[in-house]
This record gives sequence, structure tokens and C-alpha cells, in this order.
Amino acid sequence: MSLNSSIEWTDATWNPVRGCTRISPGCKHCYAERFAERFRGVAGHPYEQGFDLRLVPEKLAEPFSWRSPRLVFVNSMSDLFHPGVPDEYIEAVVRVMVSADWHTYQVLTKRSERLRGLMATRLRFAAESPNIWWGVSVEDRAYGLRRIDDLRQADAKVRFLSI
Ligand code: SF4
Repeated sequence: MSLNSSIEWTDATWNPVRGCTRISPGCKHCYAERFAERFRGVAGHPYEQGFDLRLVPEKLAEPFSWRSPRLVFVNSMSDLFHPGVPDEYIEAVVRVMVSADWHTYQVLTKRSERLRGLMATRLRFAAESPNIWWGVSVEDRAYGLRRIDDLRQADAKVRFLSI
């Protein structure tokens, strides 16, 4: 969503989706939910609808406006592979990452099964992109190991774990 992110391992955040729903115990202290809910009902604020999931198509082209290379955390305020995000919208987000290739993108998800499935089909065109890092959250063995397996099987050039 902005440059100069306060997240220490990234330069910028980009949120073409806002909001999410909890999927596992690792979501218990979700900073994005806490942040978004603070602004629920604040007219005109980007998080006027709190943490309710919604697409933000007007943000899709934002990386093209950043002329110098950035390390971009994609959807710091959501999960790109949430079931409420249509396949065609995910594809549109990924097409931006492939085109605006002077940036490096970090895509982190807890919905690893959908990541794996789409990388084998609709997102195949992005498999060889070295500027897109695909990652999963590993909060414990019960949830984490499944996600690691999915990520291993995903057709992706660069993979990472958030442990
Ligand atoms: S998946 Fe991520 S963004 Fe979504 S509720 Fe859980 S911690 Fe928050």
C-alpha cells in the first residue's frame, strides 16, 4: 500500500486486496486485522470497512508508478490466496508482478493448497519469474508441514518460509 514500509524486511507494501479471515491459530495475533479494525466506520479511510475482504482494483497498477526497484511485500493486509479472491483477480495481480519486473515481490500465504493448484494452472506463466518469491507461513508442525509440502510441489522459481 505504501513506500517506506515499517516492516523491517521489505521496502514497500502493495495491497491490491484488503482484509482477510482467520484460517489457523497463527492468525490469533494478526496485526493486519488489529490495524484495519481500528478504522472501521471511519468515512473515507482505506479501512473504513475494517478487515472485511475486498478487492482494490485501483491499486493494481501501483508498482508501475515506483520507478526504482523495491522489495515489495504483496498483500501485507490480506492473503492473496483467500477463497474470496477470484482466480482471474489473482492472475491480474501476478501479471503486474511479471510485467513490473524491476521490483522483487514477496507473496506470503497461509492458503498454500490454492497457491500450489494455481501455480500448476492459471499462474504457470509466472513459474520462472525470479523476481517473485512465493512463501508460506509456518506457525507449528500441524499447519506448517502441510504448507511446506504444498510449497515444495508448487512450480515456483523462488520459494521462502516465514517461520
Ligand atoms: S491469513 Fe494472515 S492476514 Fe489473514 S487473518 Fe491470518 S494472519 Fe491475518
